[in-house]
Amino acid sequence: MEKVLTEIAEVTADPYGYVAGLKERKEKKVIGCFPMHIPDEIIHAADLIPVVIWRGNEPVTWGHAHVPPYDCGITRSFVDDAVRGKLGFMDGMVFHVRQCLQAGEFPFIMERHVKPSYQKVLYLPALYPGDVMRDFTITELEGFKTSLEEFTGKKISDDNLNKSIEIYNKNRSLLERVYEIRREKPEILKAREVMQIVWSSMFMLKEDHNKLLTELIKGMEAKTVEPEKDKIRVIPVGCLCQTLQFDILDLIEDLGMIIPDDDLYIGSRYFANQVNLDGSPLGALADRYLTRTPVCPTKGVWQVHWGDEAIKKMRDNDARGIISIIVKYCPPHACYYPDFKSKMEQEGINAIMIEMEHEIITLEAIKTRLQSFVEIIGGV
Ligand code: SF4
Repeated sequence: MEKVLTEIAEVTADPYGYVAGLKERKEKKVIGCFPMHIPDEIIHAADLIPVVIWRGNEPVTWGHAHVPPYDCGITRSFVDDAVRGKLGFMDGMVFHVRQCLQAGEFPFIMERHVKPSYQKVLYLPALYPGDVMRDFTITELEGFKTSLEEFTGKKISDDNLNKSIEIYNKNRSLLERVYEIRREKPEILKAREVMQIVWSSMFMLKEDHNKLLTELIKGMEAKTVEPEKDKIRVIPVGCLCQTLQFDILDLIEDLGMIIPDDDLYIGSRYFANQVNLDGSPLGALADRYLTRTPVCPTKGVWQVHWGDEAIKKMRDNDARGIISIIVKYCPPHACYYPDFKSKMEQEGINAIMIEMEHEIITLEAIKTRLQSFVEIIGGV
């Protein structure tokens, strides 16, 4: 178990170096997909390496000339990396521009300043009721598949697509198993380790990641841990598109809280929902996108209440509170939050919101908020 965790920590410590090395070893082209909804199974089936674009750790420099300071962290960090030439190992990039206003800026910036050999813009619809959304999504995915076929000069057969979907589904099941064990014994992994496990899946080839997870799960199943009964269970929610600073996860734990489950994008939201393998693969990928839960503000779902889902997760895990993490300058999440907050108040749930900024100067303000929160829920 320790060996796997060390390997995963090394991969996530330098995603740039890891992906560049992977490209060289496998002699395949790399396609960066902006989070959170690109069905990268199609890229995998085209014999390319799909990676989910990440937020780097460095402060934004040249990127300031291209995007305003009130764009969210991953937007500024990604543009900064791109215009500084740090993403030269990416042969192509895929964006979903309806996700938020900021994601709509990328194609123009990349086309003009980076010029990747392949660039595709997807327009995945908001989830209004009715069949028309399904037809629209399938047409969009067909166009995506065709563009990859033109890029590689090779057809993507349904067989290849089904094989890739199977590998991705296996990865989802294995990650779900890791979470299941964590729910039974939350002390088994640090919160930062869990985030690293999910995050590494976004830029390792899924078949390689599946091997690591299989070994990790064996170790986790065999390991006994002493339950820490004095720890206060909490559920973090949100943090769309990007990793939460590991220091914040450490802080939550250092303050006496423990995370038995989460509702984070780089967490349980990433691997939720399998792709059904009966029938047309593109139809199945469309159906996964069109699934309303977990509720994602970027899909415009109002028929299911995000707050209800979070409260259920909290109760299922005997947790005492919910920590909403909003990425600063993320309009979709900010738009959903007032409704979420009202639900917490109506139901008498202990909940707090913290804002996550790319350039954290000091953790003191977050620490003070979390300290007060833990004092409140500790006495419940
Ligand atoms: S974090 Fe929010 S604003 Fe930023 S890219 Fe994601 S959805 Fe858009």
